[in-house]
Amino acid sequence: MPSATHDVVIVGAGIAGIACALELLEQGRRVLLLDRDTPERLGGLARLSFGGMFAVDTPEQRRAGIHDSVPLALADWHAFAEFDARSPWPRRWARAYVSHCTQHTYWWLRHKGIRYLPLPNWVERGQFTPGNSLPRFHMVWGTGQKLTTTLIGHLQQHRHADKLELRFGQHVQGLLREGAAVVGCHGVGEDGGRPFEVRAGGVVVAAGGINGNLERVRANWHADWGTPPQTLLNGSHRFADGTMHDAAAGVGAQITHLDKMWNYAAGVHHYAPTQPWAGLSLVPPRSALWLNWRGERIGPQPLVSGFDTRDLVTQVCRQPRQYSWQVMNRKIALKELAVSGAEHNPSIREQSKLGLLRDLLLGNRWLVDTLIEKCVDVVVAPSLPELVAKMNALQGDTAVELATLQDTVQRYDACVRQPSKFRNDEQLRRIAFLRQYRADRLRTCKQQPILDDKALPLIAIREFIISRKSLGGIQTDLCSRALDAAGEPIAGLYAIGEAAGFGGGGVHGLRALEGTFLGSCILTARAAAAALDGRMLLEP
Ligand SMILES: Cc1cc2nc3c(=O)[nH]c(=O)nc-3n(C[C@H](O)[C@H](O)[C@H](O)COP(=O)(O)OP(=O)(O)OC[C@H]3O[C@@H](n4cnc5c(N)ncnc54)[C@H](O)[C@@H]3O)c2cc1C
Repeated sequence: MPSATHDVVIVGAGIAGIACALELLEQGRRVLLLDRDTPERLGGLARLSFGGMFAVDTPEQRRAGIHDSVPLALADWHAFAEFDARSPWPRRWARAYVSHCTQHTYWWLRHKGIRYLPLPNWVERGQFTPGNSLPRFHMVWGTGQKLTTTLIGHLQQHRHADKLELRFGQHVQGLLREGAAVVGCHGVGEDGGRPFEVRAGGVVVAAGGINGNLERVRANWHADWGTPPQTLLNGSHRFADGTMHDAAAGVGAQITHLDKMWNYAAGVHHYAPTQPWAGLSLVPPRSALWLNWRGERIGPQPLVSGFDTRDLVTQVCRQPRQYSWQVMNRKIALKELAVSGAEHNPSIREQSKLGLLRDLLLGNRWLVDTLIEKCVDVVVAPSLPELVAKMNALQGDTAVELATLQDTVQRYDACVRQPSKFRNDEQLRRIAFLRQYRADRLRTCKQQPILDDKALPLIAIREFIISRKSLGGIQTDLCSRALDAAGEPIAGLYAIGEAAGFGGGGVHGLRALEGTFLGSCILTARAAAAALDGRMLLEP
């Protein structure tokens, strides 16, 4: 059985593992980065991500006239998180993250060559629970792909690059312990199952969350959501299966808040799946009508994205059939329909200013046409009766009644066509509010009816709950050291990124202000690397 000695072994080469390796190379440490995946997927989920980064009081915010501050952002975080009293570490991490994300993630990345779009997006404003008081979602120019390739470039060109060893196809399955200390890990090779064992001065678990394992997602389904939906799509990493959570638990680490998850309500089946139940998470158009399986508007509060993602999931899960429909027309789809991630935002990914301008002015035609042509959950028709027939054909029954949908659409359209002072509809009120912020005005139609001859054809999209991020995980202190049942650090064991619930085993509490995942992967990674060097990056 081959063995090796390194200063530090990192399990998982997503953004958390890469950022930690970079920081350790800065210290001149010998680092072994192990990943189960293939070399072209180096970077994990971050490579596929949108690249939105939560930051507070940045130059982009100031230029846009946004006066943000750490106390305000922290108050928002606490309101949205609704922390329980079970553990102090999520609160401590929340304070550390909000206080330091700008310096230790936003600026850290800028110094490495990352740039952001000029206008931050305003996501998760909060609905019944206050959320982001201000826009804080800074889009990386080049999406998560640029973020990842930039950091990988820094690894490859580092003056100590010879001290880094990267091994792919390595499925780590357990941790090695000597006395009370963790001294390495073991596993099997992906091809052929050849066992391996690795020893090191410290082991950093950076293997992602549990949300790529749908059985585990179902087993940890939050009580607020009732029973898990029959169809649940997978928008996470195919290897985010919780193996390393079990391994950490096996040496006494506490695993907390696994029922806290950041799932999305508007998932559709991926047209080119790379794993079972693979899904795409849509950015749901605000001007579409959001309906249940019978074609009735979900309410009494209409579903509108941009306010509280968790509430959208809760409302859909409350329906007897836990999926939904969005009905719109081509004009709405062109202006508002988007898919989260690098794959479906080529203009931003390729840093094409012209392409981005074209998308904003004319709509993302490529995306809409691709979804219409390839996605099984999208149906298109020139009239409502034909649309209803196609929706029912897709559902396999006659649950959507034409009269119901006609009534819903006509009532809504009649309200849209009223002068603004008579538009007494909550969705229209929210659209009017959203359009007051320039970044949203650019991507939201101005009071657009559904039945509009100039905007046809009609489009209906069947949307499922899609599993994405684990908000819980391995409990850690502010040095990213894994903690045991007594709250004491386990010698030699660290956890970072999604594996650590993005810090402390659940830094987000119940809800995330969005764009907080990539940054906390970096911050937890940097905190672990500093601790391995005998320093504290974040004050207690
Ligand atoms: C489409 C999409 C869009 C997103 N957009 C945003 C955004 O705009 N803003 C934001 O903040 N977040 C976003 N996210 C979330 C964010 O990308 C992830 O939360 C983050 O990248 C997780 O990083 P990680 O390094 O902790 O884990 P991962 O990226 O999951 O990496 C874990 C690595 O560990 C490896 N691994 C797993 N188990 C083992 C094992 N047993 N042995 C060896 N290796 C193992 C995996 O192969 C993988 O490479 C998005 C995610 C997706 C999918």
